[in-house]
Amino acid sequence: MNHPSSSPDVVIVGARTAGGATATLLARAGLDVLVVDRSRYGADTLSTHALMRAGVVQIHRWGLLDAVAAAGTPAVRRTTFTYADDEVPITIKPSHGVDALYAPRRTVLDPILVDAARAAGARVQYGTTITDVMRDQTGRVDGVEGRDAAGRIVRHTARWVVGADGLRSIVAKAVDAPIERRGTGATAVVYGYWQGLDVDGYRWIFRPDACAGAIPTNDDQTCIFAAATPAHIGRGGMDVLHDVVAAASPALADRLATALPPAGVRTFGGLPGYLRAPWGPGWALVGDAGHWKDPIGAHGLTDALRDAELLARAITAAASGGATEADAFDHYHQTRNRVSLPLFDVVDTIAGMRWTEAEIPELLRRLSSAMSDEVELVAGLDDHPAIAGARP
Ligand SMILES: Cc1cc2nc3c(=O)[nH]c(=O)nc-3n(C[C@H](O)[C@H](O)[C@H](O)COP(=O)(O)OP(=O)(O)OC[C@H]3O[C@@H](n4cnc5c(N)ncnc54)[C@H](O)[C@@H]3O)c2cc1C
Repeated sequence: MNHPSSSPDVVIVGARTAGGATATLLARAGLDVLVVDRSRYGADTLSTHALMRAGVVQIHRWGLLDAVAAAGTPAVRRTTFTYADDEVPITIKPSHGVDALYAPRRTVLDPILVDAARAAGARVQYGTTITDVMRDQTGRVDGVEGRDAAGRIVRHTARWVVGADGLRSIVAKAVDAPIERRGTGATAVVYGYWQGLDVDGYRWIFRPDACAGAIPTNDDQTCIFAAATPAHIGRGGMDVLHDVVAAASPALADRLATALPPAGVRTFGGLPGYLRAPWGPGWALVGDAGHWKDPIGAHGLTDALRDAELLARAITAAASGGATEADAFDHYHQTRNRVSLPLFDVVDTIAGMRWTEAEIPELLRRLSSAMSDEVELVAGLDDHPAIAGARP
């Protein structure tokens, strides 16, 4: 039996950071938005969750940073880099309305975005797995089809289909989105949550083939991660995490012994970065569906938040007739690439682990400079109806 169909302006596949943010902005701009996800509200996912400044600036501009803080997410006021013989603390200076960074668990951030989308009028359906896109007689994408939790066929036609469906995006596959750039480096990551570990902000430790760090997060927990080549991490697990942390920083390894360890850790096997062409007739990609950077850069969420706004602006411009779809979506594409490619290239080099201790400071300077450009871009995006309408 077919499930009743609906025909919103935009159907978004994926209800996490990219999908939730895009839906929020589109619904605030007055579009009829449907979001579908095969997962469930508030579920965790395989990801650490440090936000960089551009991401925090976005959440603040959208009026959602108070909810992040109210969920008990600690303010991060310092980032300390360790490399070669140096320990470099950097104080987070107030700018663009934010005076701290945050690393909310995905069980916190994603529901805040989905709640904001719902509050703005978007419909969100969990338990629906999309299997393909639909096309009109001209070949233009005009909807999606899949199955709901009961196994019933679901079809939604829409003016635009947005793939916010992550690394293994079914939308990107169905539209055969071309890969524009492929990375060559990939790190594997193993991480877990320690209770009662008193850390002063983000810690990033860079040693050849043994990177590690600490990310303070909700519930008095600190995410400890170890990143190295996939061969080094192997099948992962607690012993590997300890070994890599000890190789990166014996002092941090010692401190772990003073805190309550997690019952288990999670392991990501690594995947080289990619940049896909993010749009075509009737479709667009956002978040990991369009663009994956190695987690060593801790930047995927910030990318997703930035691109959600760039894409939402493109769709609202096309929907209002203020620009053609081709012009508006091409602007999204070009802006994304202009900001992302410098980040992509330096993160890919770091992820390749082929640098020496003498070279890593310069790579981190390049990363920092690319992130500053990104902050200027997102901070300059004010005065859009979807944003202005959102001020609490
Ligand atoms: C180990 C690791 C550590 C990381 N650490 C950081 C970090 O510290 N900071 C940072 O910024 N980034 C980090 N990242 C990257 C970050 O996790 C991603 O960039 C982020 O998850 C992208 O969000 P998204 O919304 O695009 O996709 P996702 O979070 O993957 O969400 C996609 C959603 O689409 C749904 N979906 C998929 N297919 C279908 C389908 N066919 N039908 C219906 N629904 C579907 C899924 O259920 C999911 O809910 C890390 C990643 C990893 C793997």
